Amino acid sequence: MFSAILINKNEAGQTVELTKLDEAQLPEGDVTVDVEYSTLNYKEGLAITGKSPVVRKFPMVPGIDLAGTVSASSNPDWKVGDKVVLNGWGVGESHWGGLAQKARVKGEWLVPLPKAFSSRQAMAIGTAGYTAALCVEALIAHGVKPEQGEILVTGSTGGVGSVAIALLSKLGFNVVAATGKASEADYLKKLGATSVIDRAELGAAGKPLQKERWAGVVDAVGSHTLANACAQTRYGGAVAACGLAGGMDLPASVAPFILRGVTLFGIDSVMAPKARRLKAWARLASDIDAAALDLIATEVSLEQSVVAAADLIAGKVRGRILVNVNK
Ligand code: NAP
Repeated sequence: MFSAILINKNEAGQTVELTKLDEAQLPEGDVTVDVEYSTLNYKEGLAITGKSPVVRKFPMVPGIDLAGTVSASSNPDWKVGDKVVLNGWGVGESHWGGLAQKARVKGEWLVPLPKAFSSRQAMAIGTAGYTAALCVEALIAHGVKPEQGEILVTGSTGGVGSVAIALLSKLGFNVVAATGKASEADYLKKLGATSVIDRAELGAAGKPLQKERWAGVVDAVGSHTLANACAQTRYGGAVAACGLAGGMDLPASVAPFILRGVTLFGIDSVMAPKARRLKAWARLASDIDAAALDLIATEVSLEQSVVAAADLIAGKVRGRILVNVNK
């Protein structure tokens, strides 16, 4: 038997409990993993609180991330004892996920734990951090360079934002962090932000073209924030959009794209192909400091993860929450 968070749904609504499951109940897959750490992302917040229908099958073990050790494998790519990481692929949504002491998954979903990290550090990064790396990779591939100007990071005290700041500052960029939490300015500067602005400056409808400011943008917020970020991006610059913490709409005009040649990159972590994942994890392994991860991460137990998920959706959380499933 092993411990897991289980979400169920019936006519009365959704239930979430910490329970014991039998290994025989695990879903199909060719690799079984002894999970060491998982995480809470915005998506687990939505799944556990039931605020949005991200769970597509019940009962469901949530958790889109896991790091641990292979305990059984019939997949030629993985053997018992291998240290692995999994992000996305519908795990925690349509296939039992990481908020459990065991998981059975498809071997093709796994990547090796980078040598630079422990399981705990990989999960301090988690999907949010790996998505931040995908955003940074998109800006770099576009040709954005530190000497071209400042980079705006929105949703900056969140998981994506925190890791994006740490990565970009290590790469020599001047990072401006937009936040709703003025009290966290010191945290953002410790991560490497050169200055901090109030997210309210970006949160209301603005002109289609505004003063050119950003060489690049990592946006986790969407809606007016993303529209204003595009309208303030410098000629030829790029915006990497990955999130909807402020809304799913995009009340923008085409002006920044057709008059300033701005590029808007859409970033998806869930179905990203393996080569892109490996590149993002290699970027994290070379450019994230252990000290930054210590600053970003707060650890909770499986039991505490249910309350922590609600706090995350209520916007009360700073950085990343990692879940020690054996605590
Ligand atoms: P998170 O830790 O909850 O951070 C979100 C941050 O957004 C908050 O800390 C807050 O930062 C800001 N925020 C929250 N509500 C807001 C509002 N109403 N208006 C403006 N800003 C608001 O979440 P996360 O894990 O970093 O994820 C961020 C977003 O990216 C989510 O929408 C998530 O679904 C998305 N995401 C997408 C992918 C993908 O594959 N595309 C992968 C991971 C995450 P401040 O208080 O500092 O302003």
